[in-house]
Amino acid sequence: MHTITLIPGDGTGPEITEAAKRVLEATGGPFQWDVQDAGEDVYNREGTPLPDRVLESIKKNRVAIKGPITTPVGKGFRSVNVTLRQALDLYSCVRPCKSYQGAKTIYDNIDIVIFRENTEDLYAGIEYQKGSEGAKAVIDLVRRMSERSIREDSGISIKPISVFGSERIVRAAFEYARKNGRRKVTSVHKANIMKFSDGLFLEVSRNVAKDYPDIEFEDRIIDNMCMQLVQKPQLYDVLVMENLYGDIVSDLAAGLVGGLGMAPGANIGDDYAVFEATHGSAPKYKGLNKVNPLAMILSGVMMLRHLGEAEAAERLDRAVADVVREGKDVTYDLKPRPDDPTAATTSGMADAIISKMTG
Ligand code: NAD
Repeated sequence: MHTITLIPGDGTGPEITEAAKRVLEATGGPFQWDVQDAGEDVYNREGTPLPDRVLESIKKNRVAIKGPITTPVGKGFRSVNVTLRQALDLYSCVRPCKSYQGAKTIYDNIDIVIFRENTEDLYAGIEYQKGSEGAKAVIDLVRRMSERSIREDSGISIKPISVFGSERIVRAAFEYARKNGRRKVTSVHKANIMKFSDGLFLEVSRNVAKDYPDIEFEDRIIDNMCMQLVQKPQLYDVLVMENLYGDIVSDLAAGLVGGLGMAPGANIGDDYAVFEATHGSAPKYKGLNKVNPLAMILSGVMMLRHLGEAEAAERLDRAVADVVREGKDVTYDLKPRPDDPTAATTSGMADAIISKMTG
């Protein structure tokens, strides 16, 4: 029996989480779900979007699967998703982007895995509002310490990149490559401009690479990487990068394999793992039973592998591949036209996957 913390999330989160839960149960499990709410509704009720009991549950069960959670833009509470990753030190964000035959895309044979550092960078949450005491102090410090000046009316976000944080994410990428028979790791950066943060990330990447002579290593500047991914994505295998680049490149890579509905993910640390889709809560589709549950279901496939249930993972992945290839019981985003009246609902697509596995 696997006891798993299940966080339905908000927006379309509860619908896709329910679909993933049913599909996972159909693999035979068995699972016991420790359901925990987090997000906006909880914030309105309890004054915090992430009550301690949610973290306690994950610490107890060690594994969680989570629906997306809305983050207010420019104001309100900090991202629950980011807080959770930091609080549990889930430093590796692992996001595979793999072609499934039948998914709507102009590319074939893509099989890229992104390793995104999850705890540092501009996501560290060290920010000073325009005009605040903190912003004035930083502006003053910069004036004293360097030839540069920052305009008085600036808001400031700090970008810390450490040897410790860089080393463990690059090592995680190489370990993954080795365990999964991957041939190459590409470190992605902007070291030509940010010499002391991205430069450090690159230097650490090169040092770690020396411990893995069996795996090819190369580096790419982030802007060139984006162009290369659009033009010749098949050249790439495992990519490792800082937090913000990882966020952006994950969505780009999702676009290569059919969109955000096809992009699963996992946040993994030394002690805990939280599985979640790359996409957000897509609030405009809330309650419509319309969005694609596959990103969440494929996050479930990753969770099964993490739990040592390799056979169940393969069976579920095959069922997903069959349903996508047949193209009949798929949601609107996988149909040739988004207004296709034969598009399956979220729950209908889950049913089709279940009957492939059980029927
Ligand atoms: P989003 O990923 O929620 O949606 C962007 C667009 O992508 C949608 O409008 C839709 O067209 C498409 N899309 C997303 N998921 C889909 C699916 N399953 N099936 C089909 N199409 C899908 O991005 P957003 O609108 O920028 O963000 C909405 C909220 O989600 C924000 O509050 C954001 O902060 C939050 N967010 C949360 C997470 C997380 O929980 N880990 C991640 C990203 C964004």
